[in-house]
Amino acid sequence: MAQAEVLPEVTKFTEQPKMIIGGKTADAVTAKTFEVIDPSTGKAFTEVPLGDLADVDAAVAAAREAFEDRRWAGLRPGKKTEVLFKIADLIKRNIPELAQLESLDSGKPVKLASGEIWAAAEAFRYYAGWPTKFHGETNATDDNMFSYSLREPLGVCGGIIPWNFPMIMASWKVAPALAFGNTVVLKPAEQTPLTAIRLAQLCLEAGVPDGVVNVVTGLGPQAGQALAQHDNVDKIAFTGSTEVGRKILHATEGNLKRVTLELGGKSPNIVFADANIRRASKGSMMGVFLNSGQVCTAGSRILVESSIHDEFVESLVESTESMKVGPALEEDTGMGPVVSKEQLERVTGYIDIGRSEGAEVATGGGVPGDLNGGYFVNPTIFTGVRNEMRIAQEEIFGPVAAVIKVDDVDEAIAVANDTIYGLAAAVWTESLSKAHRVARGIRAGTVWVNTAGLYDPGISFGGYKQSGYGRELGLQSMETYTQTKSVWINLK
Ligand code: NAP
Ligand code: MG
Repeated sequence: MAQAEVLPEVTKFTEQPKMIIGGKTADAVTAKTFEVIDPSTGKAFTEVPLGDLADVDAAVAAAREAFEDRRWAGLRPGKKTEVLFKIADLIKRNIPELAQLESLDSGKPVKLASGEIWAAAEAFRYYAGWPTKFHGETNATDDNMFSYSLREPLGVCGGIIPWNFPMIMASWKVAPALAFGNTVVLKPAEQTPLTAIRLAQLCLEAGVPDGVVNVVTGLGPQAGQALAQHDNVDKIAFTGSTEVGRKILHATEGNLKRVTLELGGKSPNIVFADANIRRASKGSMMGVFLNSGQVCTAGSRILVESSIHDEFVESLVESTESMKVGPALEEDTGMGPVVSKEQLERVTGYIDIGRSEGAEVATGGGVPGDLNGGYFVNPTIFTGVRNEMRIAQEEIFGPVAAVIKVDDVDEAIAVANDTIYGLAAAVWTESLSKAHRVARGIRAGTVWVNTAGLYDPGISFGGYKQSGYGRELGLQSMETYTQTKSVWINLK
């Protein structure tokens, strides 16, 4: 199958991608760089600045200055709306370039990457509506007083994001911050720094003033930690693993900055005997293997009612085996590589653990023969899994599904909730009452019925339990990107 040609814009951008600080391109203060690797080949194709504390300081200073002089917050709301729409338009106009960049950087198939870029543009379109719609309120008082509450931005918002959906994650941090009048410093994941830089360029092109959106590329324990700890940062929006989320929380305690945490998951995907089996197996397959399973909401625990277990597994295996594993830029690739060598080792390690725990491999269970340097893993389905096994409790973040038998609705809810996580769940049933019963019974921030993996910028998203706290998107994001001030005026 044909490999898509690398676009000239992509080649040009990857010649010298740099950080964006105060509206200008910037090298690291140390002038050090690190390599950016294409997971489909295992080879470096460009490098980016290795930012650390000094670069975070410079970016935070730029964002602070831009916030204090109100060059963004002070604009007419309609003007902010116009700029946010323009960012969305620019992202959409550049989908082929951005999608290829994302494919090269993260290993995701280019079709999936195009969808991701489109979704990032949609986040900006959604938030473009907010500057003209949010406002404070007047408060009840006696006749001697007048009181109103202003709804104000928080200030400098730090965004620390993972590598699985780099452009969506960047847009979920930048768009709400801007809509509510904040300034931003974004630290993309070391594996996927490119589209964040490109997004900052497009923000400038759309008319976002200098210093309002800054990007520092670098490593988590240095650049990320410096940002989370910084006394001049007012909020950290973090998306990543539960383990690093805990470190973020500790790092932010110095100045008690606001924190939202979008963390890991081990989401149940429940298939009842009355489900449409074909639809459920296809949906479950996408729910767990999309983006090579590197999705925080991946339905990686597939709970199946015993009476349909064998029929369902057969159908699931069939749809899984019809998906082609291959390089991200090949047009017929259904599933690309995982993001890095470390991730490949982690995933194959868990496959070994699953075998040693006594689970059976229904399909996959290893790496394809012809790797050609890429980080490929065959989509793997384990059956005979018990919920206490490590492959059912620990987030693998790769293409590995654990199928667990359950006998009825109560057991399904109990097993679904028997996890430290609570990010999402999917339920497949034709029974209306069963669907609502399970939706109410599950402790997770999102429940999908007869579908999986849907998001919309207007619908809030976040975790229960150790999947984090705070909500992104939707009305609730106004609360997490603003604060209110009550003003009292003596009328006497
Ligand atoms: P990660 O290792 O937690 O890293 C996330 C980000 O934190 C990266 O930018 C990372 O930088 C940075 N970081 C690492 N150590 C840090 C530290 N000590 N201080 C400050 N920042 C630090 O997660 P990942 O491997 O990129 O992504 C996979 C995880 O993200 C999974 O657990 C997945 O479930 C979760 N996730 C959750 C959501 C959600 O919305 N709930 C969405 C997507 C992904 P480096 O890249 O340099 O390490
Ligand atoms: Mg990469």
